[in-house]
Amino acid sequence: MQSLTILGATGSIGGSTLEVIRRHPERFRVYAVTAFQRWQALLPICLEFKPDYAVVGTEEDATQLRLKLKEQHCLTQVLSGPDSLVAVASAAEVDIVMAAIVGAAGLPPTLAAARAGKRILLANKEALVMAGPLFMTAVREGKACLLPIDSEHNAIFQCLPSEGATAANGVRRLLLTASGGPFRGWDTAALRTVTPEQACAHPNWVMGRKISVDSATLMNKGLEVIEAHWLFGMEPARIEVVVHPQSVIHSMVEYADGSVLAQLGQPDMRTPIANGLAWPQRIDSGVTSLDFTRLAALTFEPADQVTFPCLRLAYAALAAGGSAPAILNAANEVAVAAFLSGHSTFTGIAKTVAAVLNRLPTVALESVAHLLEIDRESRELATQLLS
Ligand code: NAD
Ligand code: MG
Repeated sequence: MQSLTILGATGSIGGSTLEVIRRHPERFRVYAVTAFQRWQALLPICLEFKPDYAVVGTEEDATQLRLKLKEQHCLTQVLSGPDSLVAVASAAEVDIVMAAIVGAAGLPPTLAAARAGKRILLANKEALVMAGPLFMTAVREGKACLLPIDSEHNAIFQCLPSEGATAANGVRRLLLTASGGPFRGWDTAALRTVTPEQACAHPNWVMGRKISVDSATLMNKGLEVIEAHWLFGMEPARIEVVVHPQSVIHSMVEYADGSVLAQLGQPDMRTPIANGLAWPQRIDSGVTSLDFTRLAALTFEPADQVTFPCLRLAYAALAAGGSAPAILNAANEVAVAAFLSGHSTFTGIAKTVAAVLNRLPTVALESVAHLLEIDRESRELATQLLS
């Protein structure tokens, strides 16, 4: 029996994780679940999965949830705040941590899980993008097992030899597939007036709002290039993006002999989640079979980095190294939030990210405290530029 903490249990990935767990009560027990603002959404989760702990954002919310749980005779203890996230991610009782908080807020508990040597199922790509080398050092020193949940990286993980993505193993390139998002084929003029609702209507995947906007700007693919660099130790020139609108091939690995291995499946996050939960074994995820006789053509095209500059900005930040990916991520988080709340245009997102990257110097990352300072500075500048 493996004991699990789900950071971000009320989100899209959190919900899919609970669906897989529900199928395997003999294999997994839930130790802790966390939510930010919607404590009400944690209530049914606590009643069903009976975790030891539930963590919410504020003590006021904690009081409300405690009251409801007591009424239902549920023994789950309710905690609040960022320190409690760290505590439930690194507790001795925990074997597996699903890192599914969105954005930089997920870094401290995910880092704590790495230092504590947990099996980390990493959905929270922003944590790795901003902290790259610091995070990978924590994984190594803590002897943690880091497994990618992002569908592309999970696909690559499944296609790589167990020794990893080295040239000595004959790995030539990693090919990240991208759906192209809801605005594939549009021009810049048309993009100026798109609404959050249009941006969040992803053609193939149902996801949280932030990542949906990132998919529409192609920043998501840019973050994933950086993520792939750190996860697989692959140099940027050998990580390529190819647009594949059907999202059937989740990514590919090309070898020196010309072989290309791909992982295919339904666009359903329960597949990579089940893969991470049971690895190296395979378990039922609830995902239906691909019916090849009903698949339309699988098509491929290059990514349009002119109309969607965020992908280009992410490659540039990775090449610049040091603090640049953290600055890119922080500016993007602020700009996406502004777009979602009606305070920025869609095209303003890339403009804000580019401006913040231009104005802040790229420096070496010294420590986590230094990184958090850079994150704060970048957010302040992005907010200032947007107002
Ligand atoms: P979501 O918005 O649906 O859920 C986010 C979760 O994080 C919620 O439980 C929320 O309560 C919590 N949260 C938000 N802000 C927080 C804060 N400040 N402190 C503590 N908790 C906070 O997002 P999602 O789509 O589930 O994505 C989660 C992560 O997984 C993101 O990093 C995303 O990029 C990544 N991811 C998602 C998908 C997908 O299909 N949804 C695919 C690949 C990667
Ligand atoms: Mg992805």
